[in-house]
Amino acid sequence: MKQGIVYFIGAGPGDPELLTVKGRRLLQEADVIVYDRLVHPILLMETREDAQLVYCGKKPCQHTLRQEDIQKQLLIYARRGLKVVRLKGGDPSVFGRVGEEAELLAGHEIDYEIVPGITSGIAAPMYAGVPVTHRKFGGSFAMVTGHSKDKHGKPVLEWDSLAKGIDTIAFYMGMKNLSYICEQLVTYGKPSTTPVLVVEWATFGKQRTVEGTLSTISNKVVQQKIANPAITLVGDIVSLRRKLKWFERSTVVSQGIILPEGNNHSYLKAMLAEARLDVYEPSQNVIEGKDTSYLSKLDSFKELVFLSKESISIFIKSLGRKGKDVRQVQQAVYTVDSKVQEELQTYGIQSSLLGDRMKMERPLFLGREEDRFSLSSSMNKEFAVTHQKKISSVFSETLHRLIDDGHADTLLLSDCESAHSFLHFMKEQGMDADQAGEYLSVFCIGKETAELVKREGMPISLVFSSKEEFTEWLTAESSLSQAAKA
Ligand code: SAH
Repeated sequence: MKQGIVYFIGAGPGDPELLTVKGRRLLQEADVIVYDRLVHPILLMETREDAQLVYCGKKPCQHTLRQEDIQKQLLIYARRGLKVVRLKGGDPSVFGRVGEEAELLAGHEIDYEIVPGITSGIAAPMYAGVPVTHRKFGGSFAMVTGHSKDKHGKPVLEWDSLAKGIDTIAFYMGMKNLSYICEQLVTYGKPSTTPVLVVEWATFGKQRTVEGTLSTISNKVVQQKIANPAITLVGDIVSLRRKLKWFERSTVVSQGIILPEGNNHSYLKAMLAEARLDVYEPSQNVIEGKDTSYLSKLDSFKELVFLSKESISIFIKSLGRKGKDVRQVQQAVYTVDSKVQEELQTYGIQSSLLGDRMKMERPLFLGREEDRFSLSSSMNKEFAVTHQKKISSVFSETLHRLIDDGHADTLLLSDCESAHSFLHFMKEQGMDADQAGEYLSVFCIGKETAELVKREGMPISLVFSSKEEFTEWLTAESSLSQAAKA
């Protein structure tokens, strides 16, 4: 049998766009993905629907898969001839155990490749406005573990050399031992006034940063309840933050928002991103409708009305399968919005926008079942269901991780369409709508959306009458939290 291969991929520190292009391609091609807790769950949506996902989440003190088991899994899958991705937070070679895992594979003559990633020790300070080197602040930078496997868990380091010889130090995994680390550095010669920066959940929308000195930082971190994952940066270079700070969120309304696709999607997405809120969009699959009987009576219609972009290519493809050419279509073509109109133009088809009182002789509407409801009731509706859109099952694992690891706490249902597709997805995945309120605040835009959601038994936290009202609310919340910070 053909041997498989293992790709060790650095997923970057959090922000999903910090994954490398190569890493993304391999992720999309993989048969099996073995991934860590610090990997952003949204990256799982890059995987194939039939790929197997193996979580080896290591919450501190709560190992889900032991290191030996992880290694064994890599070996087993590769021997089955599969393409395996071992996805690790940050860079796989920085406190990422890639050495041990690759060594085992090498010992068993399994092929592997390693794709570097952006390490949190560099990205976290940078997202807080501090580069890790600068000519004015010396010439050395070290990445250091703030933890060890000895019985007290304290890092075992050459403190003397570290304190005297290195200008800027990034400590990984150091939250529990922060006061010990600071004491040691001062004892071995760093001035107690040396600036220190702690960055929690760096590059995520929920990033928090605390600044202090070797003598003050520990108390500040306790006061503000900063926990792992966090990077501690020690050195005079931290003072640059005042000038270079750029990535700070403006609101604490939510840890992260799940936004299923709906009509106002791009508007809401842009607005939430501006408020630096993490937005998670479930990916959707387009499923072609099976019934193409409308094609055989096409000649009896005088107008074709395309209600969504996807229905155009499906219509043309279905025509082709029946041996027909789109140039034979005689009907006048209409659409409901300019985006659909533009899409038609890419096929060389001109169309008119459908007006309220437009008179048509015998129109055929093409779209999804849901689009039918957007038509005014006075219209005579001959309707061809060209397709349906469904939230991909790949989102299921992502959703669990988003909730369990505290990345998302809000569900924004922007209209009936998005509510419908999310509720349907939950049902399909065996999740209870009435339990959603335990782990998500549900926001609905529009009374009808709220009614639909309530009917399905999902508890609602807030209802907004329109997207504009939601925007106003978000802006007000942002300025309140800005004021509270100041
Ligand atoms: N290979 C990873 C590091 C793994 S060790 C990398 O290159 O980044 C785990 C430690 O990395 C955490 O305890 C924390 O100190 C740091 N870390 C990882 N992701 C982080 C993030 N988004 N924000 C802050 N620290 C992070």
